[in-house]
Amino acid sequence: MEKIIFSDRDIKNFLVEKDIKPTLIRIKTLEYLWSTKEHPDAEKIYKEVGKFIPTLSMTSIYNTLNTFVEKGIITAIKIEEGVVRYDGDIKSHGHFKCIKCGKILDLDIRQEIFKSQIKEGEVLEEHIYIIGICKECLKK
Ligand SMILES: [Zn+2]
Ligand SMILES: [Zn+2]
Repeated sequence: MEKIIFSDRDIKNFLVEKDIKPTLIRIKTLEYLWSTKEHPDAEKIYKEVGKFIPTLSMTSIYNTLNTFVEKGIITAIKIEEGVVRYDGDIKSHGHFKCIKCGKILDLDIRQEIFKSQIKEGEVLEEHIYIIGICKECLKK
């Protein structure tokens, strides 16, 4: 898969547009979330962002992630009990989680089908989770 590289300036402008003060923590956190398909949890994000900011604390990572979720620029995925993972991809999609290796894959979902059942109602949040065993793990 092609990796898209975002410059700090692009991210800074994006944050300003969303009315979020572009601090270094916020820039690096968003940069990481935009560059990964792994749906990392806060711990992993802390490790990655910490490479750029040695003084980083877990609290500031949580604050950053909460701000981003509130502003709707990332989504919180609660596919498993007690763990929140984060996704920088806010396009409508579902998630498949493998119970053996723990990986999470993105799923295409056809909005028009469920939207037609909601009719004139409004979707506020969308969480479509499927649990299973991935192809690689089934082969083992
Ligand atoms: Zn698996
Ligand atoms: Zn996703």
